[in-house]
Amino acid sequence: MKEIYLDNASTTKTDEEVIKTIKKYYADDYGNPSSIHYKGQKARESVEKSRKIIAESINADADEIFFTSGGTESNNLALKGIFFASNKDKKHIITTSIEHKSVIESCGWLKEEGAVISYIDVDSEGFLDSEKLKKEINENTILVSVIHGNNEIGTIQDIEKIGEICKEKGVYFHIDACQSYLKKEINVKKMNIDLISMNSHKIHGPKGVGALYIKKNTKIKPLFHGGHQESGLRSGTENVAGIVGFAKAVEIWKKSDIEKMKELNKLLIDSVLKIEGSVLNGTKNTEKRLCNNTHFSFKRVEGESILGLLNEEGIFISTGSACSERNIEQNYVLKAIGLNHEYSNGSIRVTISKFTTKEEIETLVKKLSEVISKLRSISPI
Ligand SMILES: *Cc1c(COP(=O)(O)O)cnc(C)c1O
Repeated sequence: MKEIYLDNASTTKTDEEVIKTIKKYYADDYGNPSSIHYKGQKARESVEKSRKIIAESINADADEIFFTSGGTESNNLALKGIFFASNKDKKHIITTSIEHKSVIESCGWLKEEGAVISYIDVDSEGFLDSEKLKKEINENTILVSVIHGNNEIGTIQDIEKIGEICKEKGVYFHIDACQSYLKKEINVKKMNIDLISMNSHKIHGPKGVGALYIKKNTKIKPLFHGGHQESGLRSGTENVAGIVGFAKAVEIWKKSDIEKMKELNKLLIDSVLKIEGSVLNGTKNTEKRLCNNTHFSFKRVEGESILGLLNEEGIFISTGSACSERNIEQNYVLKAIGLNHEYSNGSIRVTISKFTTKEEIETLVKKLSEVISKLRSISPI
């Protein structure tokens, strides 16, 4: 059976070119970048070259890029690092109700450490009201942290506008760009963003590597202590192969792939909405939705049952966020957009990549339609 992978918001297939690059750094160029000999310096050069590539992708300077183990660590470092570096009586952090778990749970932990956290609500399409956010900022606010492109429903926030507000109010602005990175323009010279979380495995790079952009002169403390790597902000021998693979994934990313995904995503949405009792969650505005994200709900079926039956056909999708799939509670993002229970139980997320084909979309739509009819026919309701 030919597999159809449509869970690209969870992770993506590593690009062959990336795999080829990574191999060399295990087989030959395996030196430690901190070693002063030739082999070490060769690895150092590769890490610094990679840093430059990633910096250029967001119009930052190389010394503003710090390598981490991925999106989770970048988010933890941004929130905790800024909190612990701040003036003792400033304890307020503002975020949203639709963040990734790594932000929500970092905020929860910081609350126990004395932080005051405000969660801004979103509207039915997942958009943040920037005026509401502005009103929430007070003299004790240190940081505003917002997810750029939502990992569940794909809604993209107006970060330029939020950045202006944060600059005007003199508070730090962090974005979690793990889903939006390279899919939506981020330019730190044009936008007032102080910290950006990025990762590699959502853009066909290796897992376990990411970066945090930190604007010059930002006050931040490290979470790890030891070897003083990454200018003392992230101790630990660099994941050289991962870093170089990450940069390779950035280098080979093509704008034309975004256009291709946009077209396929539109086909997917139009086709699935023909199924009776279906709705699209998030926004219909394709400019404000991640080019690879769709999220649907169906009446009178369970999302988990759809996933299970498609799985048997070799088609891989998600019912929600990979980390909370086992939760029987209503998904918090769907709750935040006010989706009622009748629909939210029957939710699926289908996320495509540059490798997705029209034939795969057509097969999915056909199988999905069959699976839903089958489930409804055996449903007691
Ligand atoms: C995947 C993801 C993360 C976590 O990144 P890891 O590299 O898997 O730790 C954080 N935020 C968002 C929005 C994500 O999609």
